Amino acid sequence: MPQLCAMKVAIFSARPYDRAFFDAANASHRYDLVYLDTHLNKTTAALAAEFPVVCAFANDTLDATTLAILAEGGTYLVALRCAGYNNVDLQAAQSHNIRVVHVPAYSPFAIAEHAVALLLTLNRKTHRAYNRVRDGNFSLDGLLGFDIHGLTVGIIGTGKIGIKFARIMRGFGCEIIACDPIKHPDSDEIGIRYVEPDELYALSDIISLHCPLTPYTHHLINTHAVQQMKCGVTLINTSRGAVIDTHAVIVGLKSGHIGSLGLDVYEEEADLFFQDLSNDIIKDDVFARLLLFPNVVITSHQAFFTRNALQNIAETTLENINDIRMTGSCKNMVRV
Ligand code: NAD
Repeated sequence: MPQLCAMKVAIFSARPYDRAFFDAANASHRYDLVYLDTHLNKTTAALAAEFPVVCAFANDTLDATTLAILAEGGTYLVALRCAGYNNVDLQAAQSHNIRVVHVPAYSPFAIAEHAVALLLTLNRKTHRAYNRVRDGNFSLDGLLGFDIHGLTVGIIGTGKIGIKFARIMRGFGCEIIACDPIKHPDSDEIGIRYVEPDELYALSDIISLHCPLTPYTHHLINTHAVQQMKCGVTLINTSRGAVIDTHAVIVGLKSGHIGSLGLDVYEEEADLFFQDLSNDIIKDDVFARLLLFPNVVITSHQAFFTRNALQNIAETTLENINDIRMTGSCKNMVRV
């Protein structure tokens, strides 16, 4: 048993805050946690040799090659410390007998509230007002917003996060419409009306994306979708970057069809987010173009980043590992 208790866990893409919350949660587990600040991918997977468990995050790449290297090194469990698992080739994991667990709900409030923060920032232009006032510029020109009360909000994906976002926006006095193949049990109580995507695009003043990234939702927001949207629509994405075709959205922003855009995720974010690149040249021209719009606010995948969420992530991840170790099964197992 002591040998099992000291089981080695390689934690990839680890930042100082991960270390703080995992060390605290590990007090009752006593795993041998080894923090690696590098992303997990086929080039770095060999670092996990002889680690039975690998802990990965949203921007790690667990493709077939990476998983083959992990399996060869003796890894039998990938413990994702995030909800989404679009970055894992589940078929390859299964073929190597590697189990995959995730943290399905660490704090849906954190992400829903961040979506609201992006919306309010864009509407009342607090990102611009903040800089102006610090610069002694007290002019209001260009800062005109609108009342959110009474507007129609379209939500794509009414799962754990989308339904929290719906409740908050209901509190603002908005009409809520949604697209989701599965109707949420609370939707009638909240007053959500489910519609087809084109109707949602045509009726919504504000659209917020809360669906997972799957082959069906990849570039869901494409040129066709943008063209169906109301002129001046506010679009918020806290789900996964590739749900949006960034080129199509840039065309919409340039023409004024999209009134403002709030992003917490970006399809090519893996080379950018979670690092300090302030002394470097940004090589991604598409991302650089987005930064030039005054009506675009981007945060670097921080919607999950609350104390409550980090604590839940660390505790649930270690409990997931424990469940697999003790019983071979876990309620948070991801299946093909
Ligand atoms: P969830 O599984 O509870 O809900 C997702 C909902 O989307 C489900 O109801 C599902 O039926 C629906 N859906 C699937 N395909 C759809 C489609 N084509 N059109 C409309 N709806 C569709 O997931 P959740 O916990 O609410 O998380 C949603 C997503 O948010 C995650 O998959 C993840 O990618 C993202 N996320 C982002 C952050 C962040 O920090 N930015 C943090 C956590 C999760």
